[in-house]
Amino acid sequence: MALSPAENLLTDEQAHAARAMWNCLHAWWQMMPKDKRTLANADAAIRQARKEIDFLAVLPAQAAQAVLKTYVQAWKNFWDGRVDAPNFKGRFRSVMSVDIPQGRDLQIKRVHRRWGMANIPKVGRVRFRWTKDLPVGNKANADNRITGARLVKDHLGWHIAFRVKSFEAKPASHQGAQVGIDAGVNLPLALSDGNHQDHGRAPRLPDGSADRDKWLNTEEKGKLLRLERRAAQRKTHRKPGERTSRRLHHTYDQIRGLRAKATRRHQDWQHKTTTTLAQKYGVMVVEALTITNMVKSARGTIAEPGTNVAQKAGLNRSISQEAWGRTVTMLTYKAGRYGGTLQKVPAPNTSRRCSACGFITPGSREDQATFVCKNPDCGWSGNADHNAARNILHLYRMGHALIPAAGRAVVRRAKRVKPATAR
Ligand SMILES: [Zn+2]
Repeated sequence: MALSPAENLLTDEQAHAARAMWNCLHAWWQMMPKDKRTLANADAAIRQARKEIDFLAVLPAQAAQAVLKTYVQAWKNFWDGRVDAPNFKGRFRSVMSVDIPQGRDLQIKRVHRRWGMANIPKVGRVRFRWTKDLPVGNKANADNRITGARLVKDHLGWHIAFRVKSFEAKPASHQGAQVGIDAGVNLPLALSDGNHQDHGRAPRLPDGSADRDKWLNTEEKGKLLRLERRAAQRKTHRKPGERTSRRLHHTYDQIRGLRAKATRRHQDWQHKTTTTLAQKYGVMVVEALTITNMVKSARGTIAEPGTNVAQKAGLNRSISQEAWGRTVTMLTYKAGRYGGTLQKVPAPNTSRRCSACGFITPGSREDQATFVCKNPDCGWSGNADHNAARNILHLYRMGHALIPAAGRAVVRRAKRVKPATAR
């Protein structure tokens, strides 16, 4: 959104009030005896709070209601076993956001090829970038319309996300090929058919360490380095107990802005890539792995400390950075959209097993990039990431698939855990 400084401030205030409202609500909920925790009582408490606390009144009544709705949903998600219990929201740990629960309040109008206008309650009429075809005006009808919006702030500023209700025809079952997909160490996404999805950015620096800022260009990297040096310098020259200066805060903001830009570029690539994959392949197979476990395992325990901790941590960071989890989430819902399925296989040894002869021999991984089979009768060598992807597909064909993660072929589901994205 393109906001003036005054509008920016108003939206910030609303977001702070929304967070305060959440915290008040959470305190109220914990304090109340169980039988008094009803929606009606919570609603009455919210009304009273908005009357008595000045800074809560900047939040529009509808948005305050939305906080209650989100809070109750958070408990439902917890009771279904999807997430942890709701907690207080900290000022610096939580994402700033404001809900606009009613679509008709927005009065959206396209004013230019690239710009639209919308009404934000208590802020006014604001401009926003028209990046997607929205069902407004003649295109809107009972089955295809905007039902609300959410304002979200990141380090590049305020954004508006519209909630759209639309009918989607049930896709025909996808007849495409099967493919194993692996989050590679050197290839961002390696496919079992030998293709790979590259983003054309070197994953490592010349010294071999993972490149954390590969989504920035050389100029931006230079800028980031200068900013980080400046921040470090200002930090060291600060006297004990002295408050962080405005200048230092400004430098931090600039660093965060650059990082936010990198993240957005990465997400754009992920969206494009996962859409291509979902359109092309009927069955996509991925490794069922949890990134948190991998990061944990490198460190080991006090009794059994891990080996090569720093090395593995570097590798793990690189995996985390590729944001594999987000890729899988995208593949999950996109598979459903195009009529395909996403399958997960528990995949031990996928990086050590030879996909040509099936031998698991230690030391077959020459380095991060190449795999050479140590079986004397085989001797196959090739890209290590492709090898892993082929192993994943092999495991699926052998019938090792877990519960189908997505798509039309959902047969059974663990009782407690309902994947929110399963269709
Ligand atoms: Zn082999």
